[in-house]
Amino acid sequence: MAATSHASIQPRHGVSTLVGRWPLLGQRRALVIYLAAMVALDLVAITVFAVTLDFRWPDVYTFAALMGCGAVCIEATRRLGVPAGVSRDLLSAWWLPVALLLPPLYALFAPIVLQALLQVRVRATVLYRRVTSAAAIGLAGCTASVLFHRFVAEPGLLSQGSGPPIIFAVLAAVLFALLNIALIAIAALTAEPDMGWREVLWDKESLLLDIVELCLGISVAIVCGLNLALLLLALPPVVLLQRSLLHAQLQAAARTDAKTGLLNAAAWHREADMEIVRARRTGASLALLIIDIDHFKRVNDAHGHLAGDQVLVGVASTLRGQLREYDVVGRFGGEEFVVLLPGADAHEARRVAERLRTRIRHLAVPADDTLIRVTVSTGVALMYVHGDDLIELLAAADLALYRAKELGRDRVCVSVIQPQPGSPPDEQPHPEPHPLPEPGPHPHPEIPPQSQSQIQAPSLPLSPSSPPQALPRSQSQPQHQFDPDSAPRLGPDLDPPPLPGSQPQPQP
Ligand code: GH3
Ligand code: MG
Ligand code: MG
Repeated sequence: MAATSHASIQPRHGVSTLVGRWPLLGQRRALVIYLAAMVALDLVAITVFAVTLDFRWPDVYTFAALMGCGAVCIEATRRLGVPAGVSRDLLSAWWLPVALLLPPLYALFAPIVLQALLQVRVRATVLYRRVTSAAAIGLAGCTASVLFHRFVAEPGLLSQGSGPPIIFAVLAAVLFALLNIALIAIAALTAEPDMGWREVLWDKESLLLDIVELCLGISVAIVCGLNLALLLLALPPVVLLQRSLLHAQLQAAARTDAKTGLLNAAAWHREADMEIVRARRTGASLALLIIDIDHFKRVNDAHGHLAGDQVLVGVASTLRGQLREYDVVGRFGGEEFVVLLPGADAHEARRVAERLRTRIRHLAVPADDTLIRVTVSTGVALMYVHGDDLIELLAAADLALYRAKELGRDRVCVSVIQPQPGSPPDEQPHPEPHPLPEPGPHPHPEIPPQSQSQIQAPSLPLSPSSPPQALPRSQSQPQHQFDPDSAPRLGPDLDPPPLPGSQPQPQP
């Protein structure tokens, strides 16, 4: 019932703390010491149980049969591929019976055999991950085995269906899962102490899978105790379950941007489209943000692409952490992110955008002996005000983003549509200038807006059949003029510099 049987050292909910984001040097050292201690303990346990082993050939046959089933499972799903990052499998169905039916030494060996097979046949990953995963699962399995054999003298009793051995088997399986999760969670928290226990441990999907693994493992143990040949009957359903589990994970991975874990551009478009249709049907408000990291190229140039990637991961996790469950967050590509805020009006959208900007400003991503800090510029567009579909909203937000960059970056710009001079009223899609409303209560924590600007954004010549992508800025630029009269006054240090051709405004 390994919570991360194949997933290596990662917290159960899939945040790849130890892989996705390098811990600081001190934490990295603590993590290495912890993992080394775990492997050393595993080796000591192997030695101790090997010395005291009461060798029996039937145990070897049972072990070989169960490992054979594990190998068939791996081979049968190998061609499906494995999703990048964390993945789950049902190999516990085979090593839990090993822990219950055989002496503890076999429970220490089982994950070594299957991890080696995964490494050779499925994915050659960094060796330390396989070794530490095998150690974590082995130690958990060995402890469960010791407990079970302490209370159930003859494991064959499990197959007679009487209550106590089955109850002890369930307890041993629960212990196996808990220990494995605890060993992994300690590693995750050593790497990133700021992470809460709950965040590391609690995941409804994983819990459900743990329960399935427990049931499978005990059922296979009972079948195996009756007759080894019956494993042939247990194998097909487990293989099928394993395949559908992998299939579901691959489907999820196809929606996800591998680097940041956010939705990828295609999946974001699909989900954003659905939200927009829903908003149109219900008349609810909705806002769209495009967030672009400022001068990201300089980060790459100064610290390298790997450090740049860590910044992308940091920004993505800040975005996810600051938004509600039903906000749709995606990586649009490169260093550009898109957020759809269902139910958000102009005021809320601006507040959220400011909060994200401030949080990202305070983000410090460790790189070698320094901390990388970045800022972001954000363009905001509002449903019904700047457009009625995704294409229009993206175009408007992209233009607002362009203006935010023009005004000096590290700021939020809300697009404002004003009537185009000379156009008849019925050709103006949004005849009223969009006023920025007064601040009021909203569900997001409050951070006072620091800077915003308004821009004019006349309707755009987009056909409904255009691909749902923001216009390139080179195209969009000439269509927009900065309207100094409509720009709110900003603090002295936040005031945008006058644009070429525009008159400086007198301070009130
Ligand atoms: P601006 O403030 O105008 O947005 O400047 P910028 O440097 O952020 O924008 P520019 O478009 O000039 O450069 C974007 C850079 O982002 C260039 C590209 O190498 C980098 N980039 C794109 N995708 C990735 C990625 O996945 N990882 C890393 N490390 N860099 C990336
Ligand atoms: Mg950029
Ligand atoms: Mg960009």
